[in-house]
Amino acid sequence: MAELFRNFIAGEWVAGATASVNRNPSDTADVVGEYAQADAAQAKAAIAAAKRAFPAWSTGSIQERANILEKVGAEILARKDELGTLLSREEGKTLPEGIGEAARAGQIFRFFAGEVVRMAGEKVASVRPGVDVEVTREPLGVIGLITPWNFPIAIPAWKIAPALAYGNTVVCKPADLAPGCAWAIAEILSRAGLPPGVFNLAMGRGSVVGEALVNDPDVTALSFTGSVSTGRGIAAKAIARMAKVQLEMGGKNPLVVLDDADLPTAVNVAVQGSYYSTGQRCTASSRLIVTAGIHDRFVAAVADKLSTLRVDNALLTGTDIGPVVDASQLDIDLKYLEIGKGEGARLVTGGERLQRATDGYYLSPALFSEAGNAMRIAREEIFGPVACVIRAKDYDEALAIANDTEFGLSAGIVTTSLKHATHFKRHAQAGMVMVNVPTAGVDYHVPFGGRKGSSYGPREQGRYAAEFFTTVKTAYTAA
Ligand code: NAD
Repeated sequence: MAELFRNFIAGEWVAGATASVNRNPSDTADVVGEYAQADAAQAKAAIAAAKRAFPAWSTGSIQERANILEKVGAEILARKDELGTLLSREEGKTLPEGIGEAARAGQIFRFFAGEVVRMAGEKVASVRPGVDVEVTREPLGVIGLITPWNFPIAIPAWKIAPALAYGNTVVCKPADLAPGCAWAIAEILSRAGLPPGVFNLAMGRGSVVGEALVNDPDVTALSFTGSVSTGRGIAAKAIARMAKVQLEMGGKNPLVVLDDADLPTAVNVAVQGSYYSTGQRCTASSRLIVTAGIHDRFVAAVADKLSTLRVDNALLTGTDIGPVVDASQLDIDLKYLEIGKGEGARLVTGGERLQRATDGYYLSPALFSEAGNAMRIAREEIFGPVACVIRAKDYDEALAIANDTEFGLSAGIVTTSLKHATHFKRHAQAGMVMVNVPTAGVDYHVPFGGRKGSSYGPREQGRYAAEFFTTVKTAYTAA
C-alpha cells in the first residue's frame, strides 16, 4: 500500500474525498504516493479556515512572520537533495535540475523573509495645508494559489512565500500530476509555527478544487500558473466577480541567432533553453530564428550536440534529459511531430520514442529545420523536447519573426554585436529578454512574467510581487 498524503486544512491533516496515485514518469512501476483529493466541501472548509485566520495574521507580528519564512527557507535548503530527488521522481526533470529547483524554493522563502521587514510606504506632502498624506500597502485577504506540474516546488514557493510575507492567508491547490513537492512544503510549513488556517493545502482536481477557489467570494485574489486555456477560463470567472487575478501562462519563446554569434555559445544556449527539463518549461526556446550566414552550421552543430545527450531515468547520474511527464503529454508531443512533418518542416533529428531499463515516457529531443513561422509547430506551445529552426535573411527579419507570436514571455538573442543586442533588448516584445544566455533559467529575486498572451496582471517574484499580493491605501490626516 502506498503512503497516503493528506490535505492540510485549519492546522489539521485530513484525508480527501478520494485519493489519486502519483507515479514516477521515469519508471511507471514506481508509485510516489497516494495524494488526497479534496471535494468541493473540503475546498470550502479550507477557504473558511483561511478567512478565519486572516484578521490575526494580517495584523500580527511581522517579526514572527519573518522568522517563520526564514525557518521554512532554511529547512528547504538543508533538505534540497532529498526534496530535489522527490521532485525528479514525480516530475521527471534530472536530479541536478530537481535539486537546483528545490534550492531555489528555499532561497525564495528566505528572500521574502527579508521583505517582511522591509515593507515601506510613502509620506507625501499634501496639496492642502495642514494635511499629511501617507501611502501604505495592506494584505488582500484569502489568496487562492493554483499551480502547474512543471515547476512543482519553485512555483508554489514563489506564490506562497510572498502571499504570507505580505500578511495574506492561503489556500494552495497544486497540480494533480505532481502534488508531492507542494505537500512537502505544506509539511514544513505545518511545523514552522503558523497559526491554524494561515496556510492550507487542498490537493484535488482543477475542475473541483480549482473551480471552488475561482468561484468563492471569500477568495479575494487568485494567482494562477498554467496553460493558456485554463488561465483564460479562470480570468473570465474571476473578473466577473471582481477578484484580483494574476495569470502566468504559456510561451512560444524565440531565440535569435545572428551570423556574428559565437557558434559554441549559440549551440549551448539553444540546446539548454530548448531541451533541458525535457522542454517542459514555459520559457523554453521553441523557435530558433537563425540568420542565413550561420544557419547551416548552426543546424548541424545542434544536431551533433543532441546526439551526445543521454535521455534516461531522471534519477540516474549522467542523464541529461529525463522523460516526458506523462502519457498524455507524450501523445501531444508525438502529435506535433506529425503535424510538423505534415506542414513541410524537415525533422533533422530526434522525435523517437525510446525504451530504457525502466518503463517511462522517453522521447529523443527533436529538431525541425525549414520551418515557417506560420506553421502550427511555430505558433502553438508544444511543451516538450521539440524545437524548430526558422531561417531569417537578416537581423531585422529575425526580430520581426521573433515578435510575430501571440505570446511574450521570454525572448533571447545570441550575438557579439552590441548594437543588435541593445536593439533587441529594447524591441523584443517579451517580459524577459536574454542576451547570450538561454531563454529559460532566471534569478529568484527579480520580476518574472511576460506580456501579450503569456501573462496577465502584475509580475511575480522579487519586490514586484508586492504589487499583486497587497493593495494600496492612501491616508489623509489633518493635525
Ligand atoms: P493546466 O492549465 O492544465 O493546470 C494548471 C493548474 O490549473 C493545475 O493545478 C490544474 O489542476 C488547475 N486547473 C485545471 N482546470 C482548472 C479549472 N477549470 N479551474 C481552476 N483550476 C484549474 O497547466 P499544466 O499542464 O499543469 O502546466 C503546463 C502549462 O503551464 C504550460 O502551458 C506552461 O507554459 C504553463 N506554465 C507557465 C509558466 C509561466 O510562469 N508563464 C510557468 C510554468 C508553466
